[in-house]
Amino acid sequence: MKIPFNNPIPVGKEEEYIKTALQSGHLSGDGPFTKKAHSLLEKSLGVPKALLTTSCTHALEMMAILLNIQEGDEVIIPDFTFVSTVNAFVLRGAHPVFVDVRPDTLNLDESKLEEAITPKTRAIVPVHYAGIGCEMDRIMEIAQHHQIPVLEDNAHALFGKYKGKYLGTFGSMAAQSFHETKNFSCGEGGALLINDPELVERAEIIREKGTNRSRFFRGQVDKYTWVDIGSSYLPSDILAGVLLAQLEDREKIQSYRKNLWSTYYFAFKDWAEKQDIQLPTVPDHTEQAYHMFYMLLPDLVSRQKFIAFLREHEIHSVFHYLPLHLSDMGTRFGGKIGDFPITESVSNRLVRLPFSCGLSSSQQEEVIDTVLKFKV
Ligand SMILES: *Cc1c(COP(=O)(O)O)cnc(C)c1O
Repeated sequence: MKIPFNNPIPVGKEEEYIKTALQSGHLSGDGPFTKKAHSLLEKSLGVPKALLTTSCTHALEMMAILLNIQEGDEVIIPDFTFVSTVNAFVLRGAHPVFVDVRPDTLNLDESKLEEAITPKTRAIVPVHYAGIGCEMDRIMEIAQHHQIPVLEDNAHALFGKYKGKYLGTFGSMAAQSFHETKNFSCGEGGALLINDPELVERAEIIREKGTNRSRFFRGQVDKYTWVDIGSSYLPSDILAGVLLAQLEDREKIQSYRKNLWSTYYFAFKDWAEKQDIQLPTVPDHTEQAYHMFYMLLPDLVSRQKFIAFLREHEIHSVFHYLPLHLSDMGTRFGGKIGDFPITESVSNRLVRLPFSCGLSSSQQEEVIDTVLKFKV
């Protein structure tokens, strides 16, 4: 198609850093670029510890191991999210407890959170959909009252804020994604942000195949050995270089995305209102991370017609998550049609427009002109 949904382009020093990494002789994980990326994330967000991982999925898996999630534990997750949010916990034997989303922000509906809590609940995993913050005041209040850890799936929301505080810094841990579809990318990659200092030492061990290798390299122990369960969650320093280049250019990337988002929003406002098409809701107390531009069409038929219309004009638009409770796996956990009506409805009606740093302003104009010709 002429205008792709996602076009991830280099923005600055990616190639230079790849070359430097290749010539440095340190190609494995935790080299100089990884260390710089850790400290950039820690300083810019104000988190005690950031660890690059091979993906957001793996950062979520690390969280589940760190919390000792086991057979029979329950984990609360929004029904409208990517499979990794839930799979990481199910992999350890947890039973997912889904909660419906709010019809405005499509984030976990905090008013339905308390009724999902049972004595078996071991974690609450909010997802800041489209980079727009969940109602963290209420979620944290409920979690603290029941003494349940909050783990943020912050894949969409790096550098977004809720009431002036960075998303990813509310829960005891947060997971970031640097997959090519996200705001900052090294192809495949992620990070675990750790806000609870007590979890840091074990996180390093789990990330290093269950060994205390990180402590050994810091000279804190004189040999390294097998001390816990773990896996290999370190990305190569070559990838860390690509990521560092993007993170260093975060202001440029975010301002480009902000401009794209606002241009879409104001171009469509009147057109959408007239046809009962819902544009994203960004509450005043949040600063969004400009991860995507989505719209909610009136129903499934008009959504499919819209995607087909754009395809005829060589513009690639896409829908998003299917309700997790109705997936093959979800039904095995007892999901039935009608359980989560908001997710069921938005999943049928949502469409995402081309949105990335590789979308030029003339391409965006073409998307806008085409969209404005569409009648529901
Ligand atoms: C992309 C995404 C993930 C998975 O990220 P990977 O880095 O591909 O593992 C998890 N959760 C959400 C909400 C995502 O959008």
